[in-house]
Amino acid sequence: MLTLTFLGVGNAFAKRNFHSNALVEAWSRGPDHEQEPQDTLLIDFGTTGPLALHQLKDRPGFAYLDADGVADYTRIRHVFITHQHADHIGGLEELAFMNTCVLTRTGASPPFRPRLIVVGDMHQALWDGSLKGGLRVLQGRYAALEDYFCPVALDLRGPEPDAFTLADRYRFVPVPTDHLHVEERFDWPSFGLQMIDAPTGRSVFYTGDSRFDFAAYRRLMADADLCFHEVQLVDQPDPVHALLSELRALPAEIKKKTVLYHYGDDWDSGEFDFVNEEFAGFAKPQQRYVLFD
Ligand SMILES: [Zn+2]
Ligand SMILES: [Zn+2]
Repeated sequence: MLTLTFLGVGNAFAKRNFHSNALVEAWSRGPDHEQEPQDTLLIDFGTTGPLALHQLKDRPGFAYLDADGVADYTRIRHVFITHQHADHIGGLEELAFMNTCVLTRTGASPPFRPRLIVVGDMHQALWDGSLKGGLRVLQGRYAALEDYFCPVALDLRGPEPDAFTLADRYRFVPVPTDHLHVEERFDWPSFGLQMIDAPTGRSVFYTGDSRFDFAAYRRLMADADLCFHEVQLVDQPDPVHALLSELRALPAEIKKKTVLYHYGDDWDSGEFDFVNEEFAGFAKPQQRYVLFD
């Protein structure tokens, strides 16, 4: 079984929800039968991620994330980064320092290092542009990204693009998304994920941050059992997110299986109540979605 739990469902500026980061758990029998999943993956870990994980560990079914009152980051085995905005990467410094300096489960030495999975050369951009300021030095020495993470870089070029796997069963295939660009589509790296249950071929599509781009996602969304699409509730010219008004134009059968996430704080103003009828609803924070049973 594969499950997905949003740590938060808010956009970059949300204050009533945490940032849109997700915990994916692979189970052999499921959370009703096991205390702890076989394998875990965080899709992004933004600025509010640490607080969200701290809250999640106290929810029923997530006790395995608790280490004597603090979030047990050593339970997070893989982290996939969709792109470099702070609502998707701002929690990585805390995760790195907690693993390295605070949590040394069973006296683990050297400290636990999760796999940090990105596409292409994003590790360099992530380190130089975002992480180095805080993580460059450990007490008494200089440090590098490899001191905190096992970096894994996927290559999407060529006839057999890379993917990664959880529990020897679930395949995660990065999908380039047009979130922001400088001159042309995809010149600033940003990715969503197609998640595939290899034995059955069933799939789920997670957009990551993206403009409305159904032309690019048509096949992925048609094939998927369930889609998680980012949304911006309020219209604006030249948006970098998918406007709700654009998403409403999707075919009805696609909307019915599409959960909307990454939304603003005004989702419950009354103006957007139709979303729960027209779509598979607004994503619910800190609640497990079963992707494949
Ligand atoms: Zn975002
Ligand atoms: Zn973004």
